[in-house]
Amino acid sequence: MIIAIDGPAASGKGTLARRVADALDYAYLDTGLLYRATGRKVLDLGYDPEDAIAAVEAAEKLVAADLDRDDLRSEEVGTAASKVAAIPKVRAVLLDFQRNLAAHPPGGKRGAILDGRDIGTVVCPDAPIKFYLTASVGERAGRRFKQLQEKNTAVIYERVLKELEERDARDSARDVAPLKPAIDAIHIDTDRLNANAVFDAVMAHITTHMRGDD
Ligand code: C5P
Repeated sequence: MIIAIDGPAASGKGTLARRVADALDYAYLDTGLLYRATGRKVLDLGYDPEDAIAAVEAAEKLVAADLDRDDLRSEEVGTAASKVAAIPKVRAVLLDFQRNLAAHPPGGKRGAILDGRDIGTVVCPDAPIKFYLTASVGERAGRRFKQLQEKNTAVIYERVLKELEERDARDSARDVAPLKPAIDAIHIDTDRLNANAVFDAVMAHITTHMRGDD
């Protein structure tokens, strides 16, 4: 069983996907981390994330430990991730790893949950359950701003908002695997829903689907 969760930055995909994976005892892959780790490597080496040669090489050299770094969550790395993610060959390099994990969840788990931008459309187009989370950019910027403040990061709301708007635009406009809902995705607008309500709604869909499969 594969469950795909897509949506724009700060739409709550990660928190939701992790919770659902725990509840079902499924494997979980945050695919954004692959792009973040690639972007981080390119920055560390002093290259421009839009430099295709440097970005492809960084993606090819990714190892598991790169995904565990604790400096992948910054807005700087988010922007670098979205730049490397627009390079078709970078996406091609990272595709096999994602598909492989979905097809063979580690630890003998019965299923996998992947979250990202193109899981339902490109990585796992045959996933039987797909969700697409949305929220207005103002709501998402407010959430991201609060998270950063809680981590004591010096942060300006207007900058968080601008960074999200730019990232949304880049992720939606790129030629390869742009951010967009799969035609068979269930849309959930999280503007007026808290994390518990989103989780309950998603679990209700999954339970209904699984009952139908019995
Ligand atoms: O989800 P997260 O904010 O960590 O993703 C960082 C960036 O990685 C996104 O803005 C997007 O450009 C890219 N990404 C992608 N495809 C995915 C996951 C993330 O292009 N499946």
